[in-house]
Amino acid sequence: MNQPLVRLTRREFLRTGTIGAATVSALGFDLTAAYAQVRELKIARTTETRSTCPYCSVSCGVIIHTLGDRSRNVRPAVVHVEGDPDHPINQGTLCPKGITLKQNIVNDRRLTKVKYRAPGSRVWEEKPWDWAIDRIARLVKDTRDRRLRIEDARGRALHALTAVGVIGGCTDTNEVNYLLVKAFRAGLGVVPIEQQARI
Ligand code: SF4
Repeated sequence: MNQPLVRLTRREFLRTGTIGAATVSALGFDLTAAYAQVRELKIARTTETRSTCPYCSVSCGVIIHTLGDRSRNVRPAVVHVEGDPDHPINQGTLCPKGITLKQNIVNDRRLTKVKYRAPGSRVWEEKPWDWAIDRIARLVKDTRDRRLRIEDARGRALHALTAVGVIGGCTDTNEVNYLLVKAFRAGLGVVPIEQQARI
């Protein structure tokens, strides 16, 4: 005897084909064990590191799964990134952009070295990190020496530097932001300080 035809809406079909959605398919198979095993295989023996999605100011919590036995000569590899269920902002969920975070970390097009293009040049040169830090410090110092305003037009104390700006990322913690303000505003007088979580 013919089985009755199973009719699916487009939404039901997509939901059935998505791991993490329905555990019983519209065709009658219980997929619970299969889903559990796929996940188990993927993250078995990984190290979990909690972090923050860097893509937007929502700052969702993520768990990064890294494979590697922590030996000195083994380079750990990121094999999976998922939402952190214990994080108060996203409670385990990630948007379509955040769920691709692994491709940001494991990507041969990712820049890991300093690239410097001299004024007027069309060529990007590779430079050491120490060189870059020294150059930034030099430019900040020279700019501050030239442009720090000690007082305003009426002689009132100002101590303001508007020719240098500081911007932080959404993964910066409260403590990092505290240090940024302390070092740059209280220390150097920098006025334009911004943070991605506020933009
Ligand atoms: S997962 Fe999406 S919403 Fe959350 S921080 Fe990343 S980009 Fe923003």
